[in-house]
Amino acid sequence: MSYDKVEVPDSGQKIEVKDEENDEIYVPDDPIIPIIHGDGIGQDVAPAARKVLDAAAEATGRNISWMRLYAGQSARDRYGEDVNLPDETVEAIREHRVAIKGPLTTPVGAGYRSLNVALRQTLDLFANVRPTYYLDGVPSPMKAPEEMDMVTFRENTEDVYAGIEWEAGTDEVEQVRDFVEDEMDFDDVMHDGPIGIGIKPISEKGSKRLVRRAIDYAIEHDRDKVTLVHKGNIMKFTEGQFGDWGMEVADEEYPDDEVFAAPDSLWEEQDEVDIPEDAVMVEERLADAMLQWMQLRTDEFDVLAMPNLNGDYLSDAAGAQIGGLGIAPGGNFGKARMLAEPVHGSAPKRAGQNMANPTALILSGRLMFDYLGWDEAADLLHDAVEETISSGKVTYDLERQIEGGEKLGTDEYADAICENIERLA
Ligand code: NAP
Repeated sequence: MSYDKVEVPDSGQKIEVKDEENDEIYVPDDPIIPIIHGDGIGQDVAPAARKVLDAAAEATGRNISWMRLYAGQSARDRYGEDVNLPDETVEAIREHRVAIKGPLTTPVGAGYRSLNVALRQTLDLFANVRPTYYLDGVPSPMKAPEEMDMVTFRENTEDVYAGIEWEAGTDEVEQVRDFVEDEMDFDDVMHDGPIGIGIKPISEKGSKRLVRRAIDYAIEHDRDKVTLVHKGNIMKFTEGQFGDWGMEVADEEYPDDEVFAAPDSLWEEQDEVDIPEDAVMVEERLADAMLQWMQLRTDEFDVLAMPNLNGDYLSDAAGAQIGGLGIAPGGNFGKARMLAEPVHGSAPKRAGQNMANPTALILSGRLMFDYLGWDEAADLLHDAVEETISSGKVTYDLERQIEGGEKLGTDEYADAICENIERLA
């Protein structure tokens, strides 16, 4: 494809798809990787993360050709005031298969819809994956933060985030109200007067492919358990169905000695269940209870698979247990496609001051390296970040919680990680 405002790098090769159905890609040693710096603190953390990712790639015999793409404010500056997500940004990610992005601002209440949600839906990046693990030296509110080693799989394309909703006072919302009350017989359920209405679609396809991804991940990464987290006791035909479809995948698509679908796990403890040795156990838990167990029985959980809204809440809460948003990485996965992005947003009040923590974006890069099959570079990133933090060299967000820490700017912190990469390589 030819691009208008995107600068295509003059070196580097494209990542190609090998087998889309089985999520296989061919990765050259000098791939072109699109990057969106993002809004707010994106302008601080993206250049810093780029520097660190380059250092880890080069130390392990690779070279990244970055292809800068625009979205949010940077797109409005280049493409015009009403262009938030240019077509060529989406197309470049589609074409190049693997990309990384900083945070993008979403106005609350009015304005345009979330660009993050739009990207995930347009590219069918159906699984949002967040590995949540403790890094030595990071301050945490928990007594034993090292017990946290969970990977959350959040469904990314449907649920109340699908964007099917109507604003109070519009003709559309009144049509929906009439239909629900008169034709579907739900009279006296909704209050009189102005009302907003949203729809929560949860499909068999969306649920099963998410749970399948989570189970495959657990098998590949030697994890013991996949927990399906939902509110099926209340929302039986959406959340409950998510649980049923998920258990069907576990029960019907894998041999019992590889994946064991625990019966009645919603209501009974599983300690006594006889699970085949080495099998991944798949169980169900209710979302509200899960929020407390995550804190009180952290080491019992491993891989979590959830509908969109539960996944949003639970993954942020898990991130808080290991030190907060500044260090929590994530990635969105589709078929033979990945978009890495940190959990945090654009934190406007910290923007442009060389103070934000780039760790979350750097560790999202680690997840991207994992996906590329660059294991050595991924390990090097982890070790260099951990070494830097445990030596007390940190950005403001961690420094205010550590006694005797040395506060560094975004850039200087990235330099300290690069030095550790050089030393450890
Ligand atoms: P936020 O941007 O994540 O920031 C909330 C607070 O978390 C910050 O004020 C800061 O706390 C801390 N924080 C976040 N990232 C940090 C970092 N890298 N280093 C240090 N501290 C960090 O959440 P928000 O204020 O709710 O959202 C702002 C905008 O971002 C909204 O428009 C939202 O829609 C958008 N957003 C985008 C994404 C995405 O692009 N995927 C995700 C979430 C939100 P202190 O003030 O205490 O220092």
